[in-house]
Amino acid sequence: MSTNLSKNLTAKVLMGMAIGSIVGLAINLGGLNSAGSFINTWLVSGLFHVVGKMFVNSLKMLVVPLVLFSLISGVCGIGNLRQLGRVGSKSFVLYMMTTAIAIATALLVAGVVAPGKGMNIETNATFASREAPPLTDVLINIVPGNPIAALANGEMLQIIFFAILIGVSILMVGKKADPLVDGVERMNEVMMKMVDIVMSTAPYAVFCLIAHSVANLGMGLLGQLLGYVLVLVGVLLFHLLVTLMITLKVFSGLSPLMFLRKMRNVQVFAFSTASSNATIPVTLRTVTERLGVGNSVASFTIPFGATINMDGTAIMQGVATVFIANVYNIDLGFSDFLTVIFMAVLASIGTAGVPGVGLIMLSMVFTQVGLPVEGIGLILGVDRLLDMVRTAVNVSGDSVVSCIVAKAEGKFDSDMFRNPQAGLFKKDELEMPGKGQ
Ligand code: ASP
Repeated sequence: MSTNLSKNLTAKVLMGMAIGSIVGLAINLGGLNSAGSFINTWLVSGLFHVVGKMFVNSLKMLVVPLVLFSLISGVCGIGNLRQLGRVGSKSFVLYMMTTAIAIATALLVAGVVAPGKGMNIETNATFASREAPPLTDVLINIVPGNPIAALANGEMLQIIFFAILIGVSILMVGKKADPLVDGVERMNEVMMKMVDIVMSTAPYAVFCLIAHSVANLGMGLLGQLLGYVLVLVGVLLFHLLVTLMITLKVFSGLSPLMFLRKMRNVQVFAFSTASSNATIPVTLRTVTERLGVGNSVASFTIPFGATINMDGTAIMQGVATVFIANVYNIDLGFSDFLTVIFMAVLASIGTAGVPGVGLIMLSMVFTQVGLPVEGIGLILGVDRLLDMVRTAVNVSGDSVVSCIVAKAEGKFDSDMFRNPQAGLFKKDELEMPGKGQ
């Protein structure tokens, strides 16, 4: 019976998403969302906004303690510094490689289709430029001057650094630290249970998040920018379904169909929150309890990937660069394209996976290749929807790399991967002991 219930969660989340889209679309197209109207005040900016934000906050609440405890126990579980180094370097290389392929595909397709050529659109929206932080700063900032501040601010790379160091030190202390290892493992289990509790509210929360986003979509602008939107979504889907799945098959031999089937929940969460970071708890649960990746690998690769690996965001930067260059009639040469690839990959390392960060990275890329940063104002109005799609691609890339590295390191449970029922959400596991006595 619990299996039915658990199947129901995915079905219910998908249903929440579908009904949310319909309700949001009806409000949007029916013109019911004008500022000050009853629907806007009480429903869209009221109920939908509040429930959606509460849900995103409850996911964010889990991220820091979950990453900390799971990574410390992961390092203790690996117990071998050399293997830890291999997991780190393999995942880094794969993350950079897939991001570079993503943006190269985007530049190629956008170059051929040429969205924005001969287009004449104007915008009042403005966008302030940002300079890319120098590589030296990115490196320096990996080491937290104050670990408590790092935890409080959710600085993912710093938290990863600190957690690894604690894990390594625990290993070095040896037997005396055994109770600590035990404690951290138990805390990890408790946090995972909290993920289940939060996930059980997902169908309603996803409904609210999607209805809120769709009700606020600028439909007119979407029509005007259709070329840009279609090319971008096309390349995103291609990367997810072709490039990433071929990478998974070639490097790990795993079935792409099973992978996609089990990733559905994660993708919906990423889509509705537009944040790889906030999705970490769900991604971590899915890769360890549904896909078969050992915690010692996943606890590192997932938070690391949420921060440095953004294939979908890189694709947006490629398509947006070509689109804006076309609109402004600026010719980009081969070396400009190489700069875009290099900058986009670099910018992804130092920026966190949170909503809208892609546009900030884009302004760094534009400053570097000399494109007008105000051009970003043109695509601002449709970015939320595209952010949702690209975040779903980002988290899929993190999970693909996680599977590949775990398989290569012998930390992968193939039986769990093959079993469609493994790790399904079980509602009866959320009952309090002693209930009904
Ligand atoms: N929202 C994306 C993420 O969290 C980043 C972006 O493309 O803006 O992965």
